[in-house]
Amino acid sequence: MMKPLSVWLLLAAVAPAADVANDVVLAVHGGVGVPENLPPEKAKLYAADLEAALKAGLAALKAGTHLDGVEAAIMVLEDSPRFNAGRGAVFTSDGTVELDASIMEGTKREGGAVAGVSRLKNPIRAARTVMTKSEHVLLVGAGAERFATANGCTEVSPTYFWTPERWEQLRKKTKFGTVGAVARDSQGRLAAGTSTGGMTGKRPGRLGDSPILGAGTYADDRGAAVSCSGHGEVFIRQAVAHDLVARMRYQKLGVAEAAAGVFAEMPAEEGGVGGLIALDPKGRAVFHFDTDGMFRGWITADGKVEVRTGR
Ligand code: ASP
Repeated sequence: MMKPLSVWLLLAAVAPAADVANDVVLAVHGGVGVPENLPPEKAKLYAADLEAALKAGLAALKAGTHLDGVEAAIMVLEDSPRFNAGRGAVFTSDGTVELDASIMEGTKREGGAVAGVSRLKNPIRAARTVMTKSEHVLLVGAGAERFATANGCTEVSPTYFWTPERWEQLRKKTKFGTVGAVARDSQGRLAAGTSTGGMTGKRPGRLGDSPILGAGTYADDRGAAVSCSGHGEVFIRQAVAHDLVARMRYQKLGVAEAAAGVFAEMPAEEGGVGGLIALDPKGRAVFHFDTDGMFRGWITADGKVEVRTGR
């Protein structure tokens, strides 16, 4: 049966955009929540944060491992008030913050995550701590905070997260803006991480896709490292990050084709459902989204940095 005109118009409005890059060692995103009509001077600040994250990530990767690279890059974005993660996290409908983060490596496919935490400065570090220092994969709420601080993660008071911009957004119901990173080492080992405040005005207790391995984050050296941003409920239901890897493994697709396949099966939503970054073991990276924009950037083996803030 023919689709009604309104559906065609909706589909046309969310036609996906994608960048593909080669020889990438580390890539980041600052979410698909690019503010409408972002003025150039503000875009510059976002771009500077993305570049700082890429450089910190690369330095950590070179001095340590791919997981160090992912963690360091994400921490820079968590510490910036401009992204919906860590310091700049959005508010729940109660005016509180509840942060989610996860990290994963692609060789043994080990991972860690925290969710619904309100007192941790860097949830990505807490996620890594869960991965390396506990026998669990996902810890939530007060138990996660207690475990993380007992293992050296920095605690902050809830006022640390209060920024006037986010308060304004709670009133306006702006939606997305998570951060994430993917990295590979010289042997093609992969890592991915994602950190978020979730969706503005979310119900307290709601978890999104970002702390769920297979939904918002996944890494498998046999496929790709993936980090997502967007309407978390959809990303959980579609198991997006794992779906991309599964398409590569079972359908023998390249990373860009697999991302296109994932988005071809996404439900059409006004304004789009979101985006993802994915990196394969050979350094081919894709940045795919069906929204108005996605903050994103990558750094290649020769140290060249590329940062984009729009479509
Ligand atoms: N995916 C996140 C969530 O649903 C939101 C975002 O990407 O900004 O929690």
